Amino acid sequence: MIYLHIPFCKQKCSYCNFHFSTSLDFKNEMISAMAKELDLRQNELENKTLKSLYFGGGTPSLLKVDDLKFLIDEVLKYHTFNENIEITLEANPDDLSQNFLKELSKTEFNRLSIGTQSFHEPDLKMMNRAHNSSEAESSIKRAQDFGFENLSIDLIYGSPTSNVEIWKQNLKKSIELQVPHISSYALTVEPKTALQQWVLTNKISAPNESEQNEEFYFMSGFLKENGFQHYEISNFAKPGFQSKHNSAYWNYNEYLGIGPSAHSYDGENTRSWNVANNQKYIQQISQNIRPNEIEILTENEQFNEMLMIGLRTSLGVDYLKLKEKFSAELLDKSNFEINRKIEEGFLILENNFLKIPEKHWFLADGIASDLFHL
Ligand code: SF4
Repeated sequence: MIYLHIPFCKQKCSYCNFHFSTSLDFKNEMISAMAKELDLRQNELENKTLKSLYFGGGTPSLLKVDDLKFLIDEVLKYHTFNENIEITLEANPDDLSQNFLKELSKTEFNRLSIGTQSFHEPDLKMMNRAHNSSEAESSIKRAQDFGFENLSIDLIYGSPTSNVEIWKQNLKKSIELQVPHISSYALTVEPKTALQQWVLTNKISAPNESEQNEEFYFMSGFLKENGFQHYEISNFAKPGFQSKHNSAYWNYNEYLGIGPSAHSYDGENTRSWNVANNQKYIQQISQNIRPNEIEILTENEQFNEMLMIGLRTSLGVDYLKLKEKFSAELLDKSNFEINRKIEEGFLILENNFLKIPEKHWFLADGIASDLFHL
């Protein structure tokens, strides 16, 4: 799969610490540089047909449809698409105008991931989103009217401007809108964000963990009652609508990340990431240099990652795969803790898959890290 990182946003959301610029001054240079990076790295993913192409960011929907189409065509110069390829565009509600969607519906894009976040106006204001609650709703309906049935929305729970009742309304609205995929995250206070500043200066209260816990489990039960599969801690899908892009990450498949700050993985033990600086990226790529750092994962790190990622999914971690990939000595070191967690009820081993019972999913990261090798 290929991920293209479009590093531009209209404005800075208060909770976000992703890499992007709010100036579009170098948009054309960036698009050319990304096309060049695709050229420079054309031998990676060789002989593989692409099952997923994902435009993320930043805000890819800030680009013109012609620019997005240009990048798809650049990918097609070097790679072939699987006949069932999923081509996703992350889009913000305020960008999904009639014209934009009309043009987009003529391209290969077949999935939208809409940054709705909430239908509740005070949440959107606090988050400094560029859209309001009525656009949150109308953008979804418009996208469906233009034939985008395979769409996902992002929702954030646990905001200090919300409460359990408001969260229930957000979920009910999503059901009414017949959205087949929902990605939902707890609001977290990230370093160097406006939200962190407000919390530190007591302008706003920090997200309440017990409320987030209650909202998480309400969401899980409610969405399942409404026909969704809870297939990863933060992801819910109606049958047939699981994201191929996300699933490929969770299966440790190889992927190519193009654009500033984008990460790549060779499917074995090497991860790399491009510089998170638009100017440096453009300059270096123009000199045929990929500005990246590389990390070779040790056996311990690979083991930890497999647990961290796999234990967040409903399928769990393939224990036979662990046995195949890692030395008996390394697995032996984990067995004591794994057995203890099984006895305590925090893990189950079912059909050779190690998983966390859903009632403990909110604690998944802590349970996985207890099994790590340092
Ligand atoms: S639109 Fe997305 S990437 Fe851009 S600032 Fe907001 S949350 Fe971050």
